[in-house]
Amino acid sequence: MDTRVCKRCRLLFNYIGGEQYCPSCREALEDDFQKVKNYVRENPGCTIIQVVRECDVTEKQIREWIRQERLELTGEAGIYCQKCGSIISSGTYCEKCKAEMTNMLNEAARSMMPTQNNSSDNSKKPSSSKMRFLDY
Ligand SMILES: [Zn+2]
Ligand SMILES: [Zn+2]
Repeated sequence: MDTRVCKRCRLLFNYIGGEQYCPSCREALEDDFQKVKNYVRENPGCTIIQVVRECDVTEKQIREWIRQERLELTGEAGIYCQKCGSIISSGTYCEKCKAEMTNMLNEAARSMMPTQNNSSDNSKKPSSSKMRFLDY
């Protein structure tokens, strides 16, 4: 049994996975989320401040939902790409940075790929540092 402290009410509960909230907080948060979702749907272009005031939720919680891409605020939502700082409507990074990072990850994955096929050729490969040393 995995007992943890709820992130919201600090009570111990039996952890079953996902976010670290007890069942009653999970329910309350889901209610809040539905409330926020409806509010945003009825008030397109609203700001986080408005949502905080009207739905009685914390700004932190709203930003959390935005990061989880469960919620998307349009207009002056005030969330920024963590890399380049441009305004985005959901998530953590803008499309451009997301694409850039995906590329970088792919590159990294490719360079880390073991060269299984020519592993026997490794001994024949000249060590680049030695070559350079001989040049001088
Ligand atoms: Zn709780
Ligand atoms: Zn960016």
